[in-house]
Amino acid sequence: MSIKTTNQRERIYEVVRDAHAHLTADQVYGILKQEDHSIGVATVYRNLKYLYEHKIINRIQHPDYGYVYDANLSYHYHFHCIECNKMRDIVDLYDEQLNREVEQKFGGKVMSHMTVFHGICEDCLAKKKKDN
Ligand SMILES: [Zn+2]
Ligand SMILES: [Zn+2]
Repeated sequence: MSIKTTNQRERIYEVVRDAHAHLTADQVYGILKQEDHSIGVATVYRNLKYLYEHKIINRIQHPDYGYVYDANLSYHYHFHCIECNKMRDIVDLYDEQLNREVEQKFGGKVMSHMTVFHGICEDCLAKKKKDN
């Protein structure tokens, strides 16, 4: 593996990690393209796939955009804003007990669950107030 490949992968990871909201592959590409015009979209897709398959990042289903990438590997919920379409983390609210309740109802073993809340985020609410 060349140094360039490693650096690009690290940089891709950093972009996912430092994003204010979870990004699609195209959004990650858009950010990197501004820093390095030589980077190709296929490189970004390939490295995101690599990072996901090696459990370095996670991916979640966005209602409109397909997959978005997430560097937060702990169990957590998401908030999807119907105005700006951003998908953000809700931390410290994961209900482990719910897994046990589902096990009791359905049998089997629950490893985790995912929940996406849909609504209007704080930023968009503030914007709406200002516009009125
Ligand atoms: Zn919003
Ligand atoms: Zn997340």
